[in-house]
Amino acid sequence: MIKESKTALSDRIISRTIEFGACMAGIANVEELKESPSHTISGKQTEFSGVGTKEVDGKKKGKVIWPEHANSAVVIAVEHPRYAPDMDWWLKGLKGGTRGNAKLMSVFAKLAKWVEAETGIKCIKIPYHIEHGGVFMKDTAVLAGLGCIGKSNILVTPEYGPRVRLRVMLLDLDLPSTGMTDFDPCKDCEEYCRRACPQKAFEKQIYSKETFGQQKLPGRTGVYSRFTCNLEMEKNLDAGREVVIEGTDKTGKQVKFCRRCEMACPVGR
Ligand code: SF4
Ligand code: SF4
Repeated sequence: MIKESKTALSDRIISRTIEFGACMAGIANVEELKESPSHTISGKQTEFSGVGTKEVDGKKKGKVIWPEHANSAVVIAVEHPRYAPDMDWWLKGLKGGTRGNAKLMSVFAKLAKWVEAETGIKCIKIPYHIEHGGVFMKDTAVLAGLGCIGKSNILVTPEYGPRVRLRVMLLDLDLPSTGMTDFDPCKDCEEYCRRACPQKAFEKQIYSKETFGQQKLPGRTGVYSRFTCNLEMEKNLDAGREVVIEGTDKTGKQVKFCRRCEMACPVGR
């Protein structure tokens, strides 16, 4: 039996995630999340196979399967600062894939233990990939008040700019969303992110409000092409090299994925 108000509980959950190592945290209500732009557009888009997507038999790409009893979503961020690029390097065989994701997973392992012991609320740990049971994390972060979707099509936070990585855990408790904010650094910006793209992934109008029936589109104005961005990701994969996995005698392929749009953004520098 939970004796405190939902706001007090939500505040306690958020402050615990920070103690456990996240740099930002918030909560999104699942019913609101289902209506967020990525969740509503995903079913209308052409199926996308690219770096980071997974083939799962019988599952449509990009379709979120909501677990039973998922009523709210805790979203956390860890910083991937410019001075620590290795946080972001993907290494096959490393737990979590990157150092950043390993940190995010460890925060949620501690949080789930605490929430269940302290409140009895069931925590539903979900994977990163949509095809394996994940949800759209950027939209979760926006609803939770962590930042806004920039013209780069990635989350931009006031404190760290776009140089963060996210992870989501679902709760069997109907908590209200802790966002959104009116933070918007892109309005008067010279679009350094878009200009930095080696593949010109923001050059063409791909989506329109009329065709997709919604106001909020990828890259804000419907110009972001994940197909074009994926060309760079494939190049990055091909350029990967075998390295020793720390703490083991094994090797794995290390890949440094493109972050030029992120690095060019002046917010949070
Ligand atoms: S570079 Fe400018 S337009 Fe691009 S995400 Fe950052 S603030 Fe927004
Ligand atoms: S990640 Fe690289 S290729 Fe993809 S949109 Fe950003 S700058 Fe362009």
